[in-house]
Amino acid sequence: MDKNTLYANIIIDISHEKLDRTFQYRIPEELKGEIHPGIPVEIPFGRGNRSVNGYVVEVTDRAELEPSRLKPIRRVLRDGISIEGQLITLAAWIRENFGGTMNQALKTVIPVKQKTADKEKRLIWLKPDAATAKALLGELQRKHQTARARLMEALLKQSPLPYETVTQKLNITASVIRAMQERELIRVETVRNWRNPLDRMKKQGSVVALNPTQQRIVDEILTGWQQGDLRPCLIHGVTGSGKTEVYMEIIESVVKSGRQAIVLIPEIALTFQTVLRFYNHFGDRVSILNSRMSAGERSDQFERAKNGLLDVVIGPRSALFTPFPNLGVIIMDEEHEAAYKSESVPRYHARETAIARAKMCGAGVVLGSATPSVESYDRAKQGIYRLLVMKERVSARPLPTVYTVDLREELRNGNRSIFSDKLRELINDRLEKKEQIMLFLNRRGVAGFVSCRSCGEVIKCPHCDVSLNLHNNGKLVCHYCGYEQPMVKNCPSCGSPYIGGFKAGTQKIEQSVNQQFPGARVLRMDLDTTRKKDGYEQILSAFANHEADILIGTQMIVKGHDFPNVTLVGILAADLSLHISDYRAPERTFQLLTQAAGRAGRGCRQGEVVIQTYQPEHYSVVTAAAQDYEAFFEQEIFLREMLHYPPKWHMLVIHAAASQEMLVKQAQDMLKCKILTKTEEDAAEVQVIGPADAVVSKVNDIFRKVLYIKAADYRRLVSIKNMLETYISEEPAFRTVTIQFDFDPMNGF
Ligand code: ADP
Ligand code: ZN
Ligand code: ZN
Repeated sequence: MDKNTLYANIIIDISHEKLDRTFQYRIPEELKGEIHPGIPVEIPFGRGNRSVNGYVVEVTDRAELEPSRLKPIRRVLRDGISIEGQLITLAAWIRENFGGTMNQALKTVIPVKQKTADKEKRLIWLKPDAATAKALLGELQRKHQTARARLMEALLKQSPLPYETVTQKLNITASVIRAMQERELIRVETVRNWRNPLDRMKKQGSVVALNPTQQRIVDEILTGWQQGDLRPCLIHGVTGSGKTEVYMEIIESVVKSGRQAIVLIPEIALTFQTVLRFYNHFGDRVSILNSRMSAGERSDQFERAKNGLLDVVIGPRSALFTPFPNLGVIIMDEEHEAAYKSESVPRYHARETAIARAKMCGAGVVLGSATPSVESYDRAKQGIYRLLVMKERVSARPLPTVYTVDLREELRNGNRSIFSDKLRELINDRLEKKEQIMLFLNRRGVAGFVSCRSCGEVIKCPHCDVSLNLHNNGKLVCHYCGYEQPMVKNCPSCGSPYIGGFKAGTQKIEQSVNQQFPGARVLRMDLDTTRKKDGYEQILSAFANHEADILIGTQMIVKGHDFPNVTLVGILAADLSLHISDYRAPERTFQLLTQAAGRAGRGCRQGEVVIQTYQPEHYSVVTAAAQDYEAFFEQEIFLREMLHYPPKWHMLVIHAAASQEMLVKQAQDMLKCKILTKTEEDAAEVQVIGPADAVVSKVNDIFRKVLYIKAADYRRLVSIKNMLETYISEEPAFRTVTIQFDFDPMNGF
């Protein structure tokens, strides 16, 4: 494509607010084929045509002005691709592979620069060497220049000293400092005072030595890299097998060679414990990013990274864009997590993007999980990734014993409580032994909706096609648009008084626990109890300190923390997550069950797990109970292949939204028609399904429909997207309709 493109959009000032300010230039004949996004170029700028350097952000066939009025690019700058150039190249890659505009992609990879003044700090240094300074000190004392002597003496003990210490603690005035500066006795230096999210952290505990398995994995990965094998590495290590230690050892070796590391972690697993482990290893050369940080705090971390003040940055998805000058490795822990896929445009997947970025700078990639995504495991089996396996827990702690309980049978035996007989018996046993228990409610996709038991009517939001949720203040709330109304007394459809909430929330479980185990101390972790700042950390540390016997929670409790005293995990209604309309439902269920089970027996005592389910025969329940990933994978990949789902085929979902349903329908029909005419010749390789209502077909009075396209070859979908983007930009019918592309969607569709 580059050979024929004529124009380049060039950016001169790279800062978040100025990203949309690009200038168009003509690509001269001799530079055709050399101009790509990210390439630094020299251009004539302004009236005087002075030489200015900029970056190509986009190449295009369309001139924004009369072509003869566009100036030509002068030359390509050969002095290597800077970090800015790399990130622009990455943005272009994201745009191509996941859709959206170049500007949206640029805003994703280039951080917001804060507008507030940079924080600065002044330091006072001793200028002459110590011997000279001592002689000068004597002179000052003889002349009774006491203030100067005082500062000199202090600086001989410690240099530099903060400016404020000198003026406030030593009582030295600014004029004395100036005079000493003029006599070249001291030097005043102004340095950026970076905001550091870890500045109160203290090293504690000891650094562990790797066991033989961990050491073998580290050696295999590093040796591969030395031999030039830069395929991504996938570590399949059971929960508690010590993956984090492996990551740190690899990072240490990378850092020793003068390169830097990015560690991606799902935000929810970025706990104090995890950060502390990295801090113990890398001290002030490590920093973190998280969504609670201010824009200024975030951009400071990026600046520190760019200026060589950091070696390691840990954070969620967006940490991937840390502008390290010489990136050596990207680690992605819990690589199966859905949170790695962006839910706003560009809907990029951090795994694919990490691999693309690593390729651009010759860095390694390490993916890790106890339950790898079906995509990654499939690639590992094909040899596209290197597979490394850690089958055992650290210090040969045994994996827990798992019992599966059929809830239908419990009911037949007259047990109507939410606890099966087996689970109740084990809870009593643990309470007696003073060991801890986690009760996990699998409620993915199941909201606290209100329904009528007489006619089945579900109370819905008048603006959105979703059910309202009953909150404990007695209000019905829409989680999409925020609409609220009081709880109804009678069914609005049939008038029946038998109307109520779906009773499986964490609060309900807490009530049952209190009733059935009156002596037990209970903590509950859900959206309600973790809303306030640090709520999440507080509950976890209270539980870690054994301030409670039982922790009740949703998927939030299955991540990150190690509780050595937990010897029983109860999974209530394991199959609820099987009911979501998403081809990944069995995979999600398997992952949740396995991760939840992995919480039991992290200490020296054997753990036990009870899985309660209405579908004990479902393969994701059976294989999770057996803790047999391989068996799950075999089943799952077979189905994906049969049904043409990712990773065997790929899927592009086109979302259309507009204020009138008819417009949405018309737009989707036009897109479908366009695709069908384009793919006529190889109809067997491309499948078009829909248009259909989106799972949520109306939000805030905006109608939404989806069109699905499946193809075995991802590139095929990318070219369909590119074709449609041109069509959409040229066709007036799309002006009032919002179209978004989503490749291999993660969260329902
Ligand atoms: P994973 O990330 O695979 O779940 P972790 O790295 O969190 O496992 O390790 C689990 C626990 O075992 C942690 O408490 C960790 O400190 C400990 N651990 C890991 N490696 C070792 C080792 N070589 N020696 C002793 N303890 C270890
Ligand atoms: Zn009713
Ligand atoms: Zn609503």
